[in-house]
Amino acid sequence: MVLFVTGLCGFHCVYCPVSDERMYRDVVFADEKRVERDEDVLEEARAIRAKGAGITGGDPLDVVDRTCHYIRLLKQEFGPGFHTHLYTMTADPEKIRKLADAGLDELRFHIPPGLWRRAAGSPYEAASRLARGLGITVGLEVPLLPERRADLLRLLEWAESEGLAFVNLNELEFSDANYARMRRQGYENKHELSHGVQGSDDAALEILAYPGRIPVHYCTSQYKDAWQLRARIRRRAENIARPWDVVTEDGTLVKGVIEGDGLDAVMRELSTTHGVPVDLMGLDAPRRRLEVAPWILEAVAPRLGRAAFIVEEYPTADALEVERTPLP
Ligand code: SF4
Repeated sequence: MVLFVTGLCGFHCVYCPVSDERMYRDVVFADEKRVERDEDVLEEARAIRAKGAGITGGDPLDVVDRTCHYIRLLKQEFGPGFHTHLYTMTADPEKIRKLADAGLDELRFHIPPGLWRRAAGSPYEAASRLARGLGITVGLEVPLLPERRADLLRLLEWAESEGLAFVNLNELEFSDANYARMRRQGYENKHELSHGVQGSDDAALEILAYPGRIPVHYCTSQYKDAWQLRARIRRRAENIARPWDVVTEDGTLVKGVIEGDGLDAVMRELSTTHGVPVDLMGLDAPRRRLEVAPWILEAVAPRLGRAAFIVEEYPTADALEVERTPLP
């Protein structure tokens, strides 16, 4: 589960991918679900059968007490083996002590590019030593800026000499939020079907040839979408699908939908006049719609005399609709 604990952050990275809806706003999301109370976090974790949480932002250490609260909450609910890791640019020793007290398992420092050549002696060196001394696994997670490959190699050497557990390199990616900024910096798309930046893969191959022993991972946007996101979405679909939903290979849900007023009467008509089993349809009151098994609605729609659709949507909390087909 991705737990976005705040959009607040004291940095202004040109490549920051966080959406305008969240950036510099003190909001909390568990995956796509807006969090208003603790139960929202627990519900989302159950819905995707989460085994751990990646805590992100903004900077989670800008709200360190809230972050610690969620670490404790998740471990109390799902047990000490529920893995928690977080990403931060903050190297404040007091905050790191709080995280260790709360039981954080793993800390990933996002060291600013300006310090990649000068990590030795920087606050990150002291912070990573402190965190490791307190029993937290420490690694680095930084964006792969293709034009800074030499500096990244220096950072790798430092991470290895410090005995850090790993270095994760994220493919530099365009997002809606950073597109204009990144273009002004001269970055180009890898190709028209990719969010990745040109030059990332070549730079990654060069860096992955680094002869040291520290594990180095290159995480591409394609991997994140095709594997991480898809796997999470499929698990959520399997958990939340209603008896009338069809779960697709991609993990989206397909359902028949009738919207508007008088839906109770439509439901009665479907049951009594058309013989639709009551367990293959249901009202979604907040969205003012009646959902029906799609194969049934396709068969009865021509006799209903009102608009009906086959809808395909994500099983995520925001139920993003990807396709809508009107029925004749
Ligand atoms: S530290 Fe992270 S959240 Fe903050 S501006 Fe940089 S990329 Fe965005």
